[in-house]
Amino acid sequence: MEQAVGLDTMQIRTLGCSGGIGGELRTTCFQVDDDILIDAGTGLGNLSLEEMKAIRHIFLTHSHLDHLAGIPLMVDSIFGDITEPVVVHAAPPTLRALREHIFNWVIWPDFSVLPTAGRPVIRFEEMHPGESVELGGRRIEMIEVNHVVPGVAYCIQKGGRTFAFSGDTTTNDTLWPVLNRQARLDALVVECAFADEDEELAGKAFHYCPRTLIADLAKLEHATRVFITHLKPGAEDRILAQLRRRLPQLDFRRLAGGQLIQL
Ligand SMILES: [Zn+2]
Ligand SMILES: [Zn+2]
Repeated sequence: MEQAVGLDTMQIRTLGCSGGIGGELRTTCFQVDDDILIDAGTGLGNLSLEEMKAIRHIFLTHSHLDHLAGIPLMVDSIFGDITEPVVVHAAPPTLRALREHIFNWVIWPDFSVLPTAGRPVIRFEEMHPGESVELGGRRIEMIEVNHVVPGVAYCIQKGGRTFAFSGDTTTNDTLWPVLNRQARLDALVVECAFADEDEELAGKAFHYCPRTLIADLAKLEHATRVFITHLKPGAEDRILAQLRRRLPQLDFRRLAGGQLIQL
């Protein structure tokens, strides 16, 4: 059993929460305590080398580049300094895509057999929606969502508190019933990639826009803090304004890079 940082509080650090890059913007990456990442987009680059060496587990929501671009460079950066592999947890289609399209010796070396197949720097661990992993007092459950490639959300419990992250998704009836089954929900980070004017594009890309997200939030039975992520660069204020106009009674919070969510 591995050591969690902090006995009963859970700390989620936003390393990247944008739908793109540019200036300060970084793509999806959240750090839970010191040792877990949920997705590993360009936000991963905000970690210092020492912080990277402390990462023991990465949970991926899906195979898109904005959610995993940081992994190849991270493992190369810490290659000589770690003795136990970083475990990458993901659903089988996501792991297959990582092996075939990233760690294929063309885009990047296959670090799951380096420096040796017996003592690699990363290890891929299959996980299926509905399954949970226990890590030092944190319980991480994978939940199916509805994206253009197979995608999942994660629900994380620690010390009686619950945090959920939607990953990339559009309208679904898989995430909300699982969240409703939790005894409590202390914070939800949910995507809303596009503005209402781009609803057709959002549909084709299997992302939410304010209209479809508000419709799905009606399925949620918990009162919780709702943080919006994956906003399209340049449309952030517009998307937040549309959400607040459609559901003024909910205090939508916009995530910023570096923001801490403490539960
Ligand atoms: Zn995606
Ligand atoms: Zn994305």
